[in-house]
Amino acid sequence: MQTEVVLAIGGNKGDRADFLQKAMDALSRQATLVGSSQIYETEAWGGVATSGNFLNQVVLIHTQMDPIVLLEVIQGIEEQLGRTREQHWGDRTMDIDILYFGDQVCDTPSLTIPHPYLAQRRFVLQPLAEILPTKKHPLLKKTTLELLAECTDLGQVSVWNQAK
Ligand code: AMP
Repeated sequence: MQTEVVLAIGGNKGDRADFLQKAMDALSRQATLVGSSQIYETEAWGGVATSGNFLNQVVLIHTQMDPIVLLEVIQGIEEQLGRTREQHWGDRTMDIDILYFGDQVCDTPSLTIPHPYLAQRRFVLQPLAEILPTKKHPLLKKTTLELLAECTDLGQVSVWNQAK
């Protein structure tokens, strides 16, 4: 059975756009890529990162994997792309989060779905609203557009302009 899964990918180290493309390429080898948002540029969140702004993107895939196997796959891709886990919220070449796994809800020590910070982060909600504006959060029972309208995160999020 195929499940529609929504991922957030992003990083702020190295050639950020190239890392996003490499993450998409790696994901497309493991699952069916169904869609993606534009690339957004975001001020670093949490006050720890020093390498500068993040590029973020939301990606839609179809997969037969179960959530834990998918988590292992995305952690493998993060590692391939040079991710080191030095500091929470710190600089990274690639972070991949599972936002939604169909409408499943799961809360274990290694995996929380829907992603626990989804509704608090404008850099997630804005690209998500572009591709899934009416998707309902299975716990909060609100659409992406409703969550975005209520989001108090004041971080600047704008469509990335490659030419700049
Ligand atoms: P981060 O530093 O934000 O990449 O957090 C990575 C850790 O979050 C991993 O060890 C995962 O086990 C855990 N985690 C919990 N829920 C999720 C999720 N929905 N997507 C990705 N990682 C998750």
